[in-house]
Amino acid sequence: MTLLRLATCALAAVALVGLGLSASDEASADEKTFISIGTGGPTGVYFVVGNSVCRMVHKEAAEGRSSGRQHGIRCAAPSTGGSTYNIGQICQGELEFGVAQSDWQFHAVNGSSEKVTNCPGLRAVFSVHGEPFHLIAGEGTDIASFTDTMGMRMNIGNPGSGQRGTTEVLMEGYGMTTDDFAAATELTSSEQSQALCDGKIDAYGYTVGVPNAGVSVATDGCGAYIVDLDGEVEQQLVADNPYYAFTTIPAGTYKTTADDVTTFGVMATFVSHENVPEDVVYEVTRAVMENLDDFRSLHPAFRNLDPADMIKNGLSAPIHPGAAKYYAEQGWM
Ligand code: GLU
Repeated sequence: MTLLRLATCALAAVALVGLGLSASDEASADEKTFISIGTGGPTGVYFVVGNSVCRMVHKEAAEGRSSGRQHGIRCAAPSTGGSTYNIGQICQGELEFGVAQSDWQFHAVNGSSEKVTNCPGLRAVFSVHGEPFHLIAGEGTDIASFTDTMGMRMNIGNPGSGQRGTTEVLMEGYGMTTDDFAAATELTSSEQSQALCDGKIDAYGYTVGVPNAGVSVATDGCGAYIVDLDGEVEQQLVADNPYYAFTTIPAGTYKTTADDVTTFGVMATFVSHENVPEDVVYEVTRAVMENLDDFRSLHPAFRNLDPADMIKNGLSAPIHPGAAKYYAEQGWM
């Protein structure tokens, strides 16, 4: 477990008593707790989620100032492989928090998919933005449905990413395997758009918040377009599974989005583990919820964040007791 607490040493406590301060007054300022949040590729929205949360946690801490919350939490949000990687690492105690798609959160707690670690101890904290599944097709490919990718060079995403799993779900729905593609590449989210523009691949699947700078590299940069995905298989997926819903990528989002795009999507969710102490999750939740205006301003995908939705939409794991405590105090739960 990377969660590391450096306790105040006995000598320091003795010295504080000499200054007329009790050890408990100072304990939280001297005691540091290090937390890591798993995100996704550096050009994705998860990376912004994780780093925004850290920013709010640090802002709240305000150690060294006369006012401010002295929780002693130090936060880092490194780039990672994405949803299923984050869940696996949280389950092993290597990460305290992570961002994960609602479909993979569901499967992790229910043990219902081999594509993600079975993790009964996974806990929900809140949900963030919606993530439409994007099928991005290169200019001139004429791809108009998922099955049109047959015979093409398709990026199915890096192992550990949420989009890799969701692309595979779609492939299974259509009875396709990687043999149906001329090539199935495993590029990361930060590589795929440039590869498309360089003519190395014809299409890729990506589950991501809107708008996304990575997607615009392909759409605005080299005329790639987002395909409507509302066929029979997508309709069945939405009808059968609580974590999928139809959604729209609005006209005008990117240069090539002349009309609304209809596709299915998931929610990005913020998750933790039952072994992460209640006070740590409480402080992180509190920092986020008490600075929601800041959060909303940090990425256009966060613009409409509303606590009423954040504490329920897309959450299938039990809410972590530290988060539940804060929501109960607010009268939200
Ligand atoms: N949904 C993607 C995944 O789970 C990540 C999207 C992002 O980085 O914003 O891997």
